[in-house]
Amino acid sequence: MEHTIERTLKSVEEQRRNREQLERAQEALAYDALHDKLTGLPNRTYFIQELQQEIQRCRETSVHNYAVLFVELQRLNAIADNFGFLTADAVVAAAAQRLQECTFHHGTAACFGTGSFTVLLSGGDAVSQISLFVKAVQQALDAPYEIEGYRLSVRTTIGVSLGAVGYETPEQVLASVNTATFYAKRNLKRRYEVFTPAMQEAAIARGQLEHDLRLAIEREEFLLHYQPIVDLAENRWVGFESLIRWQHPTRGMVPPGDFIELAEQTELIAEMGTLALTMALRQLQDWRDRLPEFGDGFVNVNISPIQCGRGGIDTLVKSLLAEFGVPSRALKLEITESSFIQLESADIAMWQQLANLGVKLCIDDFGTGYSCLSRLQTLPIATLKIDSSFVRGMLADPERLEIVQIIISLAQNLDLTVVAEGIETKAERDQLQAMGCHYGQGYFFAKPLTVEAATTFLQTFPNPIPNPI
Ligand code: C2E
Ligand code: MG
Ligand code: MG
Repeated sequence: MEHTIERTLKSVEEQRRNREQLERAQEALAYDALHDKLTGLPNRTYFIQELQQEIQRCRETSVHNYAVLFVELQRLNAIADNFGFLTADAVVAAAAQRLQECTFHHGTAACFGTGSFTVLLSGGDAVSQISLFVKAVQQALDAPYEIEGYRLSVRTTIGVSLGAVGYETPEQVLASVNTATFYAKRNLKRRYEVFTPAMQEAAIARGQLEHDLRLAIEREEFLLHYQPIVDLAENRWVGFESLIRWQHPTRGMVPPGDFIELAEQTELIAEMGTLALTMALRQLQDWRDRLPEFGDGFVNVNISPIQCGRGGIDTLVKSLLAEFGVPSRALKLEITESSFIQLESADIAMWQQLANLGVKLCIDDFGTGYSCLSRLQTLPIATLKIDSSFVRGMLADPERLEIVQIIISLAQNLDLTVVAEGIETKAERDQLQAMGCHYGQGYFFAKPLTVEAATTFLQTFPNPIPNPI
């Protein structure tokens, strides 16, 4: 009898324990479903539920005093590349901890993706003093991390959306935060932005532009204009810089400033660049075949850093030179100084291949990119192009004049040719010539010209110089 009671009690106890274990397992599962393993923060699903409740609460009370932040750690890829994934993970986990400390009294921080977090601030001071809060988060997260004896740092960009009447779903709020983050990444100094409706309009316009750009590549709506480059001492035409234009079906001729950046962001620049190279070489062939005046003239083609990073320019150039029967000395490639300083070793090998082919390399917009001078020797550079911002106004500004003189001397000492961009007046031309600048281009000689106008230019120049002023 006693045994039976004992057995029953034991079995009841066992059942209770099993039930508790099951409950704990269920709780753990529910916790795991709503939390990020690496950082321990609430995850995206949890955050969206919270945001949904916040939107609901605001609609009921008609008080929209919340803010959502998208916090993104930049430079993580570089850390992973140089120190390994585990080190990058440790940085993310430590950053999450710091973010949670910043957010603790004000709202919820969640892990949204690899190296990206969201924060929901609800009511109170944090929302009214959003810029102070954002700066505090940036300061906390950007402070160095000591991991496995390394001192590592990230750069934090933050997009913010303030709660507003129109939001009905978390997705709408997150779309605004996403747009603000896009602008935050472009604002290299402040690295944060608060969403405004104008940003959304611009985002829609960008979407439309991207759509149009894709079509334009398919339909080959691009063409090149050619701006003469002139030997200043001999007053003689020597070559053209090709500059891309978009013949838009409704907007007319669109300048590159309106689409190159987007083409780079969407990587459409790679196809556009191939198109530009093909057009330039076809034109070179035509001029060389048809016009004795073209002689040993050359055409410069601008190359985007994105196109460069994709590789294969050497093979493309080689096959195009062969296809159009153009000697390599008739083609020059331009990369801007700011992209030149970012070239990886694979890119440098590619430029070396191009130099071996006999294609010359020019550094465009020189003086604006803070290049390390020793870098000039790692690449087979032939030409420096002085950025027009130095040429413009140099006659009234001794500092600019000094910079121009320094670049000319640098080029002479390194045995490079030097081209001044943006010459608009005779006085600027004369000054540059007196300082020993070899070549120049600018509105003083001619604006970028259509093929027909460029043909006329080289047939008539230099007798006399067509003076646009
Ligand atoms: P860039 O290569 O530095 O080209 C010089 C720009 O200065 C051209 O603007 C030209 O029209 C303008 N310019 C020339 N002389 C003068 C002058 O005397 N005064 C003034 N105010 N401006 C002058 P554009 O054609 O609008 O091109 C802008 C930039 O777009 C180029 O700067 C280049 O970075 C980029 N770009 C143009 N074509 C291509 C291309 O085929 N591929 C790539 N990747 N980029 C291109
Ligand atoms: Mg250029
Ligand atoms: Mg330039």
